[in-house]
Amino acid sequence: MPSVSNVNNQHLFHLSGWIGVATWRWVANDDSCGICRMAFDGCCPDCKIPGDDCPLVWGKCSHVFHMHCILKWLNSQLHQQLCPMCRQEWQFKE
Ligand SMILES: [Zn+2]
Ligand SMILES: [Zn+2]
Ligand SMILES: [Zn+2]
Repeated sequence: MPSVSNVNNQHLFHLSGWIGVATWRWVANDDSCGICRMAFDGCCPDCKIPGDDCPLVWGKCSHVFHMHCILKWLNSQLHQQLCPMCRQEWQFKE
């Protein structure tokens, strides 16, 4: 029969590892597109294959979107082109 204390140590080790990953993801907050809510390692809803055909773009405000999503969003803005996340003027980061 395995010792109970060994099992507990393993459990704690895994748990603290998971908390580290989860915190980093939450702070970075950049693993999914704020417009379509699809993950950045996938593509926007208009595309079928993730990769170079569906690139990501960064704004000067530091928000990231699928290029197709932000272009669609900007085209729907009649007067000002604002970032959909922070409502600052949208400018593509050089
Ligand atoms: Zn998107
Ligand atoms: Zn796309
Ligand atoms: Zn923004």
